[in-house]
Amino acid sequence: MNFAPPRPAQPSDQPSRTAFSHRLRPQIGLAPGLRLLALPLLLSLALPAACSAQTPAQSLVPASAARAIAPAPADPAIAAALKQVSPERIQAIIARLVEFKTRATLSSMDTDLAPGTGISASADWIEAQFKQISAECNNCLEVKRDDFVEPGSDAANSRIRKPTRLTNVYAVLRGTDPAQANRRVLVTGHYDSRVTDIMNSHSDAPGANDDASGVAVSLECARVLSKLKFPSSIVFVAVAGEEQGLNGSRHLARLAKAEGWQLEAVLNNDIVGGDTTPGDTGQDKFAVRVFSEGVPSPTTPEGAPDQIRLIHSLGSDSDSPSRELARTITEVSSTYFPGARPHTISVRPPFHPVLIFRADRYLRGGDHTSFNLEGFPAVRFTEWQENFNHQHQDLRVENGIQYGDLLQFVDFHYVANVARLNAAVLGDLAAAPGVPENVHILTQALDNNTELQWQPPTGASAGTSYEVVWRPTDQPTWTEALSTGTATTVRVAVSKDNVIFGVRSVDSAGHRSIAVLPLPLGRTTPRPATTKN
Ligand SMILES: [Zn+2]
Repeated sequence: MNFAPPRPAQPSDQPSRTAFSHRLRPQIGLAPGLRLLALPLLLSLALPAACSAQTPAQSLVPASAARAIAPAPADPAIAAALKQVSPERIQAIIARLVEFKTRATLSSMDTDLAPGTGISASADWIEAQFKQISAECNNCLEVKRDDFVEPGSDAANSRIRKPTRLTNVYAVLRGTDPAQANRRVLVTGHYDSRVTDIMNSHSDAPGANDDASGVAVSLECARVLSKLKFPSSIVFVAVAGEEQGLNGSRHLARLAKAEGWQLEAVLNNDIVGGDTTPGDTGQDKFAVRVFSEGVPSPTTPEGAPDQIRLIHSLGSDSDSPSRELARTITEVSSTYFPGARPHTISVRPPFHPVLIFRADRYLRGGDHTSFNLEGFPAVRFTEWQENFNHQHQDLRVENGIQYGDLLQFVDFHYVANVARLNAAVLGDLAAAPGVPENVHILTQALDNNTELQWQPPTGASAGTSYEVVWRPTDQPTWTEALSTGTATTVRVAVSKDNVIFGVRSVDSAGHRSIAVLPLPLGRTTPRPATTKN
């Protein structure tokens, strides 16, 4: 992490106490819901500021001005799109991917495969699916292939021994606001599959759950969300090479960095089939795990010690950008999955994410890891309980047990719920303003209050407001929210010693950005994505 000084103050966005009092008036123009939320703050701040222009310190907002975290209003267009998610279509996608017999990454170099089998044929099919979806939305998607050759290595543990062609396929739903179109959220699954021997490129490797299910989530999100327009962009992805060593996602994450994608969220879906093996397997069809790293992966070895020192001194070991993304997923879930509110889909008992505060399953990794290593917020969705008889196995029956990742063990209704949750998160974040920038806690005053300041996100539309959120240090998700209206600074009577703060942007319809952890003034906000363009 590079602790460069904050960017120079701009007259238009540098918060000052004088500017703050001017910023109070536009709050009156907020949407009714926000106006209500902003009112206590407005009263508590406006009166002292108006009465005394010389007031040296910013007015103090009492903790009681905050409200308990509550679901944001559902976006009717997104809620309608979620209803379009089809278990039958998901079944058709997974069944078709299984028909390629093997999608082993190494099969791209085989010349003796039957026609219509192997990973290259499946890549062409996925590309054709994205093009079909695009044709149905007036060519709204830019469909692309990221073709490259992994050189291979002779190392003993190498899973690619000779130069091998890999292809990632992706489609971009370009944002409609030129000022925000480079902001992106991304959904991915891996379309390669495997059997017991990772070097085997010929045996049947259906990969129905691992990970045709994740590819189906990506394709189905593309189908239902491409009917809508968002100010920022959504990228729908299927990568290769996961089983060989995350090769496809690594290439795409580096491409994203090189091309300056401002990636704000990566949703990796891997093994989201809701294994249906008969008997008591401990499966929970109403829960999907969301894994997120707590401490950001070091993007450079040189920066790691400084990064760890800062995290240690702030106590922010559970507040990586990926963890804040995971918290957002729970809030979006409560907006779209309760089943009893207007504009929500009815799923009973409510399908829900379970946050696992760990980068991935124990000692394991996935494609989100590649994005984390390039500094992007990325999480992994995986079914509640994996069944290892149906994962990375040769097809066979042994002692009456069917081994192999077969279509018959996938629950298409479960995959549809995972797709709905992904689509809700992608849609809400693509509609929301960008995250606030240069978010800081001012620490000059040694007291039991907390003063925060930040700058508007690039390209923020008129009417963007802000929420300061916080939680006691032993709580997993945000518990309180305080609207500051359009003000970009606040002083609140809550001790920074006892809680973790975040700041997020909110648009006039209530779409919320991911929250940003404030850093002490003088430190830069960890913005992982480059901001080229
Ligand atoms: Zn997998």
